[in-house]
Amino acid sequence: MVRTTFLNDPNAVWLKGNLHSHSTNSDGKLTIDEMRKAYIEHGYDFLAISDHDFYSDTRALSDDKLTMIQGFELYGNATDGKDIHLHFLWEDAIEGIEPNTKVKLPERTGEVTSRFSYDMRKKGAFVQLNHPHWSMLASTEVEDENPYHAVEIINYGTEWLENTGDGSVFWSEMLYRGVKLWGTGSDDNHNGAPLDDMYSDSFGGFTVVKARDRSPKAIMEALFNGSFYTSTGPSIYDFYLDGDEIHVVCSPCERIFISGHTRPYQRKLGRHVTEFVTKLKGSEKLVRAECMDAAGRSAYTNPIYLT
Ligand SMILES: [Zn+2]
Ligand SMILES: [Zn+2]
Repeated sequence: MVRTTFLNDPNAVWLKGNLHSHSTNSDGKLTIDEMRKAYIEHGYDFLAISDHDFYSDTRALSDDKLTMIQGFELYGNATDGKDIHLHFLWEDAIEGIEPNTKVKLPERTGEVTSRFSYDMRKKGAFVQLNHPHWSMLASTEVEDENPYHAVEIINYGTEWLENTGDGSVFWSEMLYRGVKLWGTGSDDNHNGAPLDDMYSDSFGGFTVVKARDRSPKAIMEALFNGSFYTSTGPSIYDFYLDGDEIHVVCSPCERIFISGHTRPYQRKLGRHVTEFVTKLKGSEKLVRAECMDAAGRSAYTNPIYLT
């Protein structure tokens, strides 16, 4: 039996996108049109304008070059009062969220934040915990029972700004505990610097979905099902289990790691490693892969859960 998180459909398409960005509707420096143009020019297939506490309605802007995903980023609080940012994404409309309108919590407490997030999940939104390391959040501060579909493990904007955009350890710790979350990656760009500048926070972290087609519905389906990988550089072309054999196929990398719900990890090293075939050790509750290139940039698959 073959198992994979990637959509098993010969007609499926791979689509590259940014799920997290800010326009002039919040603290971003580029207009939505400027953002669209920039992402089309850089070969992206989809984009979410996720302004702070504001839903920028971009549904009318979807075309055959760039699919627009709907959403916003919410200022919330963790249970102990720490600032956290929550992400909500959807394909078309969510009851109670008005287009081009502020969305604000009535009160910034952990309880109100959690209730709002569960409510959005119930109404059909994809719910994500953003940049946990930037929020100085420890994984132990997130309960096993939580409203999230995913945690943002790559946040290029905060990585570039303060070296705090890597949520991969946070994610590993959640997975070790048996909490099932997908891992996404994005730019979280504000464009305070020109796009071609060294200080630009665009085009560094992305999510690639394997979807039925380019529609917002198909892209959201891929997100909900974990049919995607996230990366700061390398590409992953396949990741699956054939019986007890693990297969990873990627662009040329130096290291491929396979990990489970605990150590030990398996690895393959080399100058131009593009494939790793190995066997399950037998006790894994999940398997996932990380492919790292010579520049230290990583691509992460989602876990294939075995229990
Ligand atoms: Zn944020
Ligand atoms: Zn943001």
